[in-house]
Amino acid sequence: AAVINQIAAGEVVERPASVVKELLENAIDAGASRIDVAVERGGKDLIRIADNGRGIGVDDLPLAFMPHATSKLAEADDLFRIATLGFRGEALAAIAEVSKVRCQTRQADSPEGSEISIDAGVASPIRSCGCPVGTVFEVRNLFANTPVRRTFLKSDSTEAGHVAEMFSRVALAHPTIHLTFRSAGKLVHDLPAVTGINERIAVFFGRELADSLLWIESRIDDIHLWGYVAHPSQSRSSAKGQFLFVGGRYVRDRSLGHALSEAYRGLLMVGRSPVAFLHLDLPPDQVDVNVHPTKVEVRFRDGQRIYSQLLATVRQTFLASDL
Ligand code: ADP
Ligand code: MG
Repeated sequence: AAVINQIAAGEVVERPASVVKELLENAIDAGASRIDVAVERGGKDLIRIADNGRGIGVDDLPLAFMPHATSKLAEADDLFRIATLGFRGEALAAIAEVSKVRCQTRQADSPEGSEISIDAGVASPIRSCGCPVGTVFEVRNLFANTPVRRTFLKSDSTEAGHVAEMFSRVALAHPTIHLTFRSAGKLVHDLPAVTGINERIAVFFGRELADSLLWIESRIDDIHLWGYVAHPSQSRSSAKGQFLFVGGRYVRDRSLGHALSEAYRGLLMVGRSPVAFLHLDLPPDQVDVNVHPTKVEVRFRDGQRIYSQLLATVRQTFLASDL
């Protein structure tokens, strides 16, 4: 089992940012309205994520670190699968296999919290502890027991940059969650909950860009597409990046980039690609997010349909605003 866990760990945990991603997704799944992220030495020495979500029951705490013991699979209907960010039940086991983890957690109906420590896959007995409702994960010494992989990590500042990027994706996808990010003891972001993604875009890309974006939205059958795209006249701005969130999860998908290029054809300087912050909400049976353990690739059941919808929606927005 240890070998299998280490293989899984290699797929899920590539660098500190992957740990941050998994722990953030779990906190979101737990219904947190506030999540605090802190890293030391780019996350190589310490990753700390505290949430005010529903916590883990004392009986479930050791199970949470067993591979495939996800609480989310228990409710294995598809709707639930897409509604929650995790459902493979691999992440915590994988993380605990390659680091030293401490988890303190308390549920609202419990008078005290419980704590578990896991060192390179070996769990301590559970102790009781004082802690607020929610969950705190501390992940130390990532890859200390796999020195070769530790040497693959980049400099502290590069790893901190990857963590910051992961943090920004989550912040863009979940504006209603209060998020903070500390790196090397310094507060980098304190993002109070806001109602729309525009405020968050302003934080990461500047108010000017955020104000210049065009809102697009369409619903065709059960596919809801919405978000912001670059105003064609802003094409000279240096801002770049295309963010796609499917069911609140950041994903990469080339075909949507192609649809955007097509929509802006002739409107942009050659070689530029438009900034975009797009959300797709669609029924779970329309998308497979389980293509890869990190869930960053997705496969749409009918990719052509989504391509066409995006192209048409952007074009109609241009027409309606006389561009
Ligand atoms: P998955 O998210 O795919 O279910 P994980 O290994 O990421 O698998 O997590 C295992 C289980 O641990 C989750 O299903 C959940 O029950 C519990 N868990 C993990 N993190 C948290 C958290 N921050 N708050 C509450 N429960 C959590
Ligand atoms: Mg998870």
